[in-house]
Amino acid sequence: MNLLDLFAIGREREPGKKAVEFVDSRGPLGRRDLTFGALQQEAQRWAAAFARMGVRKGDRVALYLPNRPEFVIAYLATLEAGAVMVPINLRYRRRELSHILNDAEPALLVVEDAQQAVLDEILGADVGPGLAVLSVDRVESWLDEADEEARGDGSRAAARGEDAALIMYTSGTTGTSKGAVLSHNHVLATVTGLLSAWAWQADDVLLLPLPLFHTHGLIVGLHCALAMGATVRLRTAFDAEETVETLSTGGATLFFAVPTIYTRLVDLLGKEKEPPKFKGMRLFCSGSAPLPAEVHNAFERLTGQRILERYGMTETGMNFSNPYAGPRVAGTVGTPLPGVFARIVDAAGTDLPAGEEGELLLRGSNVFDEYWRAPQKTAESFVHDELGNRWFLTGDLARMDPQTGYVTLLGRSHELIISGGLNIYPREVEEMLTTFPGIEEAAVVGEPDTEWGEAPVAYLVCSGAIDEGELERYCRGQLASYKLPKRLRFVRELPRNAMGKVQKHRLV
Ligand code: AMP
Repeated sequence: MNLLDLFAIGREREPGKKAVEFVDSRGPLGRRDLTFGALQQEAQRWAAAFARMGVRKGDRVALYLPNRPEFVIAYLATLEAGAVMVPINLRYRRRELSHILNDAEPALLVVEDAQQAVLDEILGADVGPGLAVLSVDRVESWLDEADEEARGDGSRAAARGEDAALIMYTSGTTGTSKGAVLSHNHVLATVTGLLSAWAWQADDVLLLPLPLFHTHGLIVGLHCALAMGATVRLRTAFDAEETVETLSTGGATLFFAVPTIYTRLVDLLGKEKEPPKFKGMRLFCSGSAPLPAEVHNAFERLTGQRILERYGMTETGMNFSNPYAGPRVAGTVGTPLPGVFARIVDAAGTDLPAGEEGELLLRGSNVFDEYWRAPQKTAESFVHDELGNRWFLTGDLARMDPQTGYVTLLGRSHELIISGGLNIYPREVEEMLTTFPGIEEAAVVGEPDTEWGEAPVAYLVCSGAIDEGELERYCRGQLASYKLPKRLRFVRELPRNAMGKVQKHRLV
């Protein structure tokens, strides 16, 4: 089975139903809706145009596009052609873009006219001249010429389950980004796992403000909806007022977002005398970065809705989830999704008992096999157990609750602070700091310290002036003194990537 076979199950339920409803509320694109049937027809027309431009089975097609219906069409067209889609973060500029284009060597780059200036800088300069470029704003002439060829049976170059479907570049906070190769089977494993774990239904409507170039919007959002035959209300970006309006008037049953979005919703709803209860909503999900327990609880206090937090990665799709029916515990990512196996090990790779902190290792049908053209990086990212099973080293530090089995993520292993020989998990200190009145966001990083080797330093975003003496007294009552920040730095905002993840390397 390939992904198109999976999407056919969703489509054939009701081909005339709306698959994508797109509104560019602040931009020039206006509104466009596509039914499942129309989406397939468009994808096949585009696939014929791709073939005319030289795209063959196994070739890469890179998408450097914002959220818009053409993203979905171009992606499905890529799969129709048996090719491999490479989504590119729209915030990327010359260096990042050149790296990905030179590494993935796509046969075709799909863009919109608005990106032309960025491309003019690099095409022919950093990137070889052989790359074909197609603007979705000027696609019609290509489609007309290709129309005749599109009347085939759609099975031009059917991919097999083990063929690559996507190469997704990691956000690369520790060096140049690597392309994780995801096969149809890998993505299928995540999607089918989520469909059952979150009880997806055909009449679900997902409000999706997350970028489609990232695993959260693309795989958790778009793929599940297409597979289920559910509708996606796709947005170019998050708009707090519009979101509240849509969710409180029955415009959606599902909402997927990142923690910074929930923080903004809590800010907005906190100002309302009677915040809406979002009665028609079935599920609010959060992931891609840690959701502070404070925000989780505040959202429930305001709306009566308990967010479901889950954990995934570009390389693995989704790994852990709080239960759909069962207790959702703030500050945890729950338990492994169906078919995902996890271990927590110490630095020597020995399994740790529940309750102890170590690195999380994963295996399962969802876990990628390799980084694109990087056998060395691939080899360094896996270990084998005595049975020959291959485990992915996630680089995430975790602890499992001995009673519930729920896992808490403690931060990336390279962000662990070792001060005077003692381990400090930044997440624990950050969660504590945000319980102090007036502190809105906190990021704790290790900085060189002559006495302790490394010392924790806190970057704080505050709603007003805070009394540092009082904060120190508060902290001393909450955590062991060696974990407390040695210095405080007040900042207007924290540097974050497109998914709202704090970029700690930039703070350091
Ligand atoms: P990405 O590949 O961009 O999806 O980033 C994956 C990383 O995001 C993971 O390895 C985690 O470090 C982090 N992450 C994802 N979900 C969560 C979560 N619910 N809580 C804490 N960290 C998360």
